[in-house]
Amino acid sequence: MSSYGILEAIRGGGIPISRQLRAYATDFGRYILRQPLMVAMPRDPAELAQTMRICFERGAPYVLRGAAHSSGGQVLTDDVVIDMRQLTGVVTQDAASITVLGGTTWLTVAETLRKSRRPVSLTDNLVTTVGGTLSVGGVGDLALHEGLQIASVLGADWIAPDGTRRTITRDDEELGYLLAGRGQLGAFASVTLATLDRPHLLAGHVVAWSSLEQYVAAIRELRRERTFELVRSTLVWRADGSLAVRAVLASFTTHEGVMPPLGDTRLTALAPTTADPIPGSDRHLVAAEPRTWNYVCPALELALPFDEPGLATLRALEREIVASGLVATLPDGMAIAPTRIMPNLPLAPTPLPSEGDCCMFIAIRPQLPTRGDALRWLPVLRTLADLALDRGAKLYLMGIHVDRADLLERQFGAALPRFRALKSALDPHRLCNRWLL
Ligand SMILES: Cc1cc2nc3c(=O)[nH]c(=O)nc-3n(C[C@H](O)[C@H](O)[C@H](O)COP(=O)(O)OP(=O)(O)OC[C@H]3O[C@@H](n4cnc5c(N)ncnc54)[C@H](O)[C@@H]3O)c2cc1C
Repeated sequence: MSSYGILEAIRGGGIPISRQLRAYATDFGRYILRQPLMVAMPRDPAELAQTMRICFERGAPYVLRGAAHSSGGQVLTDDVVIDMRQLTGVVTQDAASITVLGGTTWLTVAETLRKSRRPVSLTDNLVTTVGGTLSVGGVGDLALHEGLQIASVLGADWIAPDGTRRTITRDDEELGYLLAGRGQLGAFASVTLATLDRPHLLAGHVVAWSSLEQYVAAIRELRRERTFELVRSTLVWRADGSLAVRAVLASFTTHEGVMPPLGDTRLTALAPTTADPIPGSDRHLVAAEPRTWNYVCPALELALPFDEPGLATLRALEREIVASGLVATLPDGMAIAPTRIMPNLPLAPTPLPSEGDCCMFIAIRPQLPTRGDALRWLPVLRTLADLALDRGAKLYLMGIHVDRADLLERQFGAALPRFRALKSALDPHRLCNRWLL
């Protein structure tokens, strides 16, 4: 570190640093260990810009770190970590949008907006940061109809890798390459998000289908008729080896304990095998309950087209998961999130379907006791990744590292040359988040 002289420069700038370096040595995956030499904790956009400028001028590689819910080392480094979590709070809001600092959690956003508004979509895990999630994509609870969370971004206060600060909107090309840009072009100091007018209560059903075919037919019907707004689903393996898909289907309501109007007839058209009502409940409070997740988790998340070839890939993955024994490490099953594809998001990890307008994100999150177990299962997970990538899938780039010569071409397609050109122009020494480009 002394070779960069950066510790003195950051201290000299009055920017807080953390002494808890070990706390930054791992991420949610808990199987990769890399302790940084220094952690800066900027408290506002000016301090963030100053920190990045100091790193840039001294040639110090750095990573931007939000809640570290990545699980493949994306926020780990031997050099400098910039911890975004002090950069938190609401900057401003109006009737249809809210501007928050990049390290703000989705929980804070949701609590600020309730009881009559909400972000366009909310991920499962509300304690992740807005900037971190938007750098990956953001698969949320309304994804079937509203697409990825990045589709709801109206503008940003952007710090480029050299510390230059700019306000950008949807009219600026750079915003497209920051959204799902994995922090390659710098940091979101703040972000302006569109909001939806919705009551804070949800009511609906927990349902199950006994085959993928029934599930697929129901999702097509849901997308066509928009009968329920919120759809979260999981493929589970029964003890006898058969499959089921369980889902929460819900709509917003103003009345606690009351089912949404027409709930039953809407449900009949979806033909679930079982359905249990969930009366009005507060999504934010449920999601905010602390969850212990103490195991090692080398996650693999993929996006497949929601069409026949995509479903064939899903079946092939499922067979491999069972044949390899990985199924025993997935007691919560495999999350499937049907997601609407939105145009004009060049880096969105959403493969184009041959029919319809959806893809599906699937999350394979083994729950393992030790790092050794993770290292043993990694080859199997990489085989699954290769199988899916060979068939046109994309990776959700927050999981295990996949080493393939053609990964970037497959992942970013026609957007790759421009993405690379922007990276070279803005960060010629590849100091910012150097794990990807
Ligand atoms: C149990 C579990 C459930 C999950 N559920 C979902 C889900 O429902 N939907 C979903 O989309 N994902 C989900 N994920 C994936 C993960 O949560 C996302 O990648 C996460 O939202 C990222 O947020 P974070 O604050 O943890 O970011 P981090 O992991 O800290 O960072 C993610 C990336 O963003 C970059 N970054 C961080 N902050 C900024 C910033 N301000 N500006 C620019 N770049 C930045 C980092 O360098 C890194 O490359 C889940 C993960 C787990 C472990």
